[in-house]
Order: sequence, then structure tokens, then C-alpha cells
Amino acid sequence: MSKKIIIAIDGFSSCGKSTLAKALAKELSYVFIDTGAMYRAVALYFMRNHISFEDLNAIENAIKEIKLHFVFNDTTGKSDMYLNGENVELAIREMKVSQKVSEVAAIAAVRDFAVAQQQAMGEEKGIVMDGRDIGTVVFPNAELKIFVTADPKIRTERRFKELLATQPNITREEVAENLTHRDLIDSTREHSPLKQASDALVLDNTNLNQEEQFTMALNWAKERINA
Ligand code: C5P
Repeated sequence: MSKKIIIAIDGFSSCGKSTLAKALAKELSYVFIDTGAMYRAVALYFMRNHISFEDLNAIENAIKEIKLHFVFNDTTGKSDMYLNGENVELAIREMKVSQKVSEVAAIAAVRDFAVAQQQAMGEEKGIVMDGRDIGTVVFPNAELKIFVTADPKIRTERRFKELLATQPNITREEVAENLTHRDLIDSTREHSPLKQASDALVLDNTNLNQEEQFTMALNWAKERINA
């Protein structure tokens, strides 16, 4: 049996990280973990329970009440996020959660909570994890680190088209504003800011289709697996 590795995929919002991660995991029969879904689920819980993002005591108590888990969905080919037993996959993609999630993800206690679970999921290797700090903080020793980037206009367009399917009233401007807002908070926060790991390979997919970037990433993965 071939060696199992950890593949860490980081980058700005809506660069197609999850699509790439999902395709790689399927091809390699690896587990795919969308860590953004975990931060989104925590944000949803805080919003539903009116937890102030400034009240550290309330945050620490709230975190104790949160159980996150993933359940594989055969139809979408990826796992759905469950928050305390409820499938919240659709709710966490709503714009009202997207508008708050980066503030929640900047809180140290929230990151400690999520990162501990992510590291446990990678213990057996054979995992593709996408997020913002996977190659820098969660798995600094990952065998393959990919930093995905793309022109912001292209990212907005891709995200807008994707969201229209479930949120027909969404506007292009709203999507563009949300991406800029999240990228700014994610890359300037104090705890685990989004940044390229020094040993990450950059994949700029502005002019690449899904097939092309998949082939590129798969070749990198095979090189590491066979090393
Ligand atoms: O990946 P996605 O865009 O769904 O992530 C939502 C948000 O969760 C990001 O904008 C970021 O604030 C946060 N996040 C993070 N660290 C990760 C994954 C996501 O801070 N590893």
C-alpha cells in the first residue's frame, strides 16, 4: 500500500480550494475536511444564541456546548457539517453567516477549539484539508502544502454564480464586498493569520480550469506519495 500523506490547501476566500480538495480526496481515496465549515458552524451557533463576540467568558461557555461533526453526503460527494446533531450545511453558507464568520474565526478560543479537532482528524494521515492556516499552524509538517490564489474579479464571479443557486436574491456587489472584507480580516488578524507557508507551492488558478488545476495538484501529490 502506498504511503499516506497530509495535503494542506490554503488561500484567500473563494479561490476554489474546496473544489480542488474534494477532487484530490476522491482521486486518492483520502478524507476531505473543509475547515471553513467548522468556523461557519461556530459563528452560526454564536449568532443563534446571541453570544457577544467581545464577551470571552460567554464565548468559552458557549464553546463547551458545541459539538461539530461531518457526515458524508453521497449526492454532493462531500461531507455535510453538523452542529449539535443538526445538518447546518445550507445555513452556514448564507450571507448573514459569511458576514460574521471572520470575526468569530479571529477569536483565539474559537481557533484553539477548531484546531485541536482538525489535528485529531489528521492523525492517521490520508487527509486533504482546506482553510487559511492549515500549512502554517494545523499541520506545519504536511508533506504537501498548496497556496491557492486567483484574481479577485474572477473569484467574485465564481462565488456569485455558485451562491445564486441557493440564494437567488444575492447581488454581485454583496459577494465582492464580502470577499474583500473576509480576506482583510483573515490576513490581518493576530492569531494564525492567513499567509502562505514558506514551503507551500503556489497555484494561481486565474486562467486555469478545474481540470487543469486538479492535474497540477495531483502530480504534486503523487510526487510526495512516491517520494
Ligand atoms: O473556507 P470558507 O470561506 O468557508 O471559510 C469561512 C471563514 O472561516 C474564512 O473567511 C475565515 O475567516 C475562517 N477560516 C479560518 N481558518 C480556516 C478556515 C476558515 O479562519 N482554517
